[in-house]
Amino acid sequence: TALLEAHDLTLSFGETPALRGAGLAVDAGEVLAIMGPSGSGKSTLLHCAAGILTPDAGEVHFDGRRIDTLGEAERSALRRDRFGFVFQFGQLVPELTAEENVALPLLLSGTRRAAALAQARPWFARLGLDGLEGRRSGELSGGQAQRVALARGLVTRPRVLFADEPTGALDSLTGEQVMELMVDAARGQGTAVVLVTHEARVAAYADREVIVRDGRSTALSTGVAS
Ligand code: ADP
Ligand code: ADP
Repeated sequence: TALLEAHDLTLSFGETPALRGAGLAVDAGEVLAIMGPSGSGKSTLLHCAAGILTPDAGEVHFDGRRIDTLGEAERSALRRDRFGFVFQFGQLVPELTAEENVALPLLLSGTRRAAALAQARPWFARLGLDGLEGRRSGELSGGQAQRVALARGLVTRPRVLFADEPTGALDSLTGEQVMELMVDAARGQGTAVVLVTHEARVAAYADREVIVRDGRSTALSTGVAS
């Protein structure tokens, strides 16, 4: 079975059905793109797969274990220890330096400051951010900020990186650079990526695609070797 698998998910917000039988599957080292029109349920599917939202029905399994029925404390520990996250905007703490932002997930899981910063540092060379370690993150360009966010999402070496429209706020060249770095860095450490995008150009980096329409999903293989 896959590293992360969700099936038959349904979820309504009040009277609004967001998911009506959606699912996904991704293996270690693979990139999965969740595609579909705005409002179709892509983010909700990602949030359910990541244990942020609890589906009304259906199941989510991670690493051989059912996770949608875990309590909030256990899911929060799972998100902190096994998952990484990258979103579209506003995810860095502007008053902290770039390096402190990258180290944040390590600090939150109890790593000492010096050790956390030492683990954060190699990401700057890896993502083309040399020299920006001490910059306040509010003073970074959009593409730089998104690469810092990517480093922060990967610094704990998560089993799965969840990325919701990670290039949505970037111009297309910068977006492609971020996608390339994300895919290489994730593959390099065996991290699976679950990516929400409405751009075919971004989905082209994926090994597999799930198309979501009106809360229902269809799995496609893009034919790219994984
Ligand atoms: P997508 O990511 O494909 O744009 P979403 O998963 O964000 O779609 O939303 C699916 C549907 O659920 C939409 O109709 C949206 O308005 C609704 N929805 C999403 N989140 C909430 C929420 N927190 N409260 C109420 N409705 C929501
Ligand atoms: P996305 O690009 O991720 O689909 P949205 O603008 O649809 O972004 O949603 C942004 C946030 O607002 C999400 O956390 C989503 O759950 C929430 N949201 C979306 N639609 C609604 C809604 N109709 N009512 C309340 N919250 C919503």
